[in-house]
Amino acid sequence: MPQLGFGVWQVPDDEAERAVATALEAGYRSIDTAAVYGNEEGTGRGLASSGIAREELFVTTKLWNSEQGHDSTLRAFDESLEKLGLDYVDLYLIHWPMPDRDRYIDTYKAFEKIYSDGRAKAIGVSNFHQEYLDRLIDATSVVPAVNQIELHPHLQQAALREYHAQQGIATEAWSPLGQGKGLLEVPALVAIAQKHGRTPAQVVLRWHIQLGNVVIPKSVTPSRIKENIDVFGFTLDDEDIAAISALNEDRRLGSDPATVND
Ligand code: NAD
Repeated sequence: MPQLGFGVWQVPDDEAERAVATALEAGYRSIDTAAVYGNEEGTGRGLASSGIAREELFVTTKLWNSEQGHDSTLRAFDESLEKLGLDYVDLYLIHWPMPDRDRYIDTYKAFEKIYSDGRAKAIGVSNFHQEYLDRLIDATSVVPAVNQIELHPHLQQAALREYHAQQGIATEAWSPLGQGKGLLEVPALVAIAQKHGRTPAQVVLRWHIQLGNVVIPKSVTPSRIKENIDVFGFTLDDEDIAAISALNEDRRLGSDPATVND
């Protein structure tokens, strides 16, 4: 899985084709969408029109909450594949655990079927706390390849990252830039950016890369799409990393997964 990919949350379907095409031209090969984003068709058109060989692309989509359950998952997966215009995805994720509904084990058993049929090359989850992962791993046979979680300098998720490392689960950061506003103006980040002749967004993405996180920044602005992938030509030093670590506030922008149940 490429460590840096392109997220398309909140990109309308008719803009997704252009955004995905711009990202692929800039060198991205991994695209993160979801059934609930309503842009799997536009994303699929962007992938198809690029002319890039399928095996060079890494496509992730996610099962929406209302479709959790064994049979409904199988149906929803077929629909996602059809909308994307693909015969397999590289990664299929359960979007939210919905712990009070208690359907994620049955759902994941359908994921295992999809995986064993080769229609998802890898399966995983999103927004899972450690206790849900523990239960999932106990009750099923394929350890999730990935847990995609909210993660940025204001919410660094040290304990969950450590648990992922022990279990061999890749940590994928959603809202890696803290959704832009606010975070990217923090003086410590601006100072590190000036020191390296880079932008605060590049510093934050570089921090993720050096920590070992998979990142999927989103932008529809071509210059920013290019800027966000240009993070492999510099290195943050220990002092920079320590200054960014000090920004943790355990502050979520999104919902606590324990509270999302529909
Ligand atoms: P993000 O942290 O990637 O921030 C995106 C915003 O930051 C942009 O809309 C823009 O305003 C700003 N930005 C982007 N590049 C910039 C730059 N170079 N300079 C200045 N500002 C810049 O936030 P996101 O879109 O919430 O998250 C990224 C992806 O994560 C989504 O597109 C989606 O694929 C995924 N995601 C998943 C979940 C989940 O529940 N699994 C939830 C949210 C997002």
